[in-house]
Amino acid sequence: MSRGRGTLARYGVVGAEPACPQRVIRGHANTPRFSGAERRYSVPQERGYLRPIPRPMNPAPRACTVTDCDRPARRRGTHCERCHKRAWRHANRAYAKAAEKARSFSPKALTLRTARATIAMALKRGRLHRQPCIVCGKPGLPHHPDPTKAREITWLCRTHRTLERERAAQAAAAEATAARKAEWDELRQRFTTAWPHLAPAEREAVLTIAWREPLISSLPPAAPLAQQALIRAYGAWRDRR
Ligand SMILES: [Zn+2]
Ligand SMILES: [Zn+2]
Repeated sequence: MSRGRGTLARYGVVGAEPACPQRVIRGHANTPRFSGAERRYSVPQERGYLRPIPRPMNPAPRACTVTDCDRPARRRGTHCERCHKRAWRHANRAYAKAAEKARSFSPKALTLRTARATIAMALKRGRLHRQPCIVCGKPGLPHHPDPTKAREITWLCRTHRTLERERAAQAAAAEATAARKAEWDELRQRFTTAWPHLAPAEREAVLTIAWREPLISSLPPAAPLAQQALIRAYGAWRDRR
C-alpha cells in the first residue's frame, strides 16, 4: 500500500517527509498568490512588480454603442445613461412595472406626460409621421410649446429642442420675476398712499407684525430693510383684515 506525501501531510503526520522549499515559495503553477484586488491595493508599494495598475482618471467621453443613439456613454461604460437604464428596466421588468404603477406626479408633470404619451401613441399607430427639425432639417423630435394642448407640437432636433426648452425656462423665470416685482410695486404704492391716513392703533399693529422679523426692530426706521419689512407687514396686516 502506497501512501503519497499529500495524504501524510493532510492527516497531520509531521516529519514523514521534509516539505519541498520550492513548493512553499512558488505554490502550484497557475495558482495566483494574490487576488486581483490584493495585487492592486493591499500589497506594499516598494514591491515594484505589484504596483497598482495605472488607469486614466478621466477617459475621453465615448459615444453610446447602441445603434441610432447619439448620446455620450457613461463614464468608463459603453452605453449612455438612458440605454443603460432601458436595459436595466428590461432585465427587471416586473419590478419596473410595479414601481411605475406606484408613481405619482404633480399636475404639471402629469399634463406633460399625458401630452407626450398622446404623441407617442399617434406615432405608433401611424396617425402622425416624424418630420425634420424646422430650424436645421436634421431628424426631428416632437416638442410641446404648451403641454395643455397635447396635439399641437413642433418638430425640433435634439440640439434645437434643448435650446428651445432652455429659452422657454428662462422666459418663464423672467415672467415670474416681473410678476413678483409688479406685485411688490403695487403693494409699495398702496402702503405709501395708506400709511399717513392710518390710525395710531393700526400703525401699532403693523409695526408689531414688522418687528417679528429678526433684527428689524434694531434698524433705524428709514433704513431700506426696515422700510421693506414695514411694507411686507402692511400687506400681511391688510390681508388679515
Ligand atoms: Zn444610448
Ligand atoms: Zn435643429
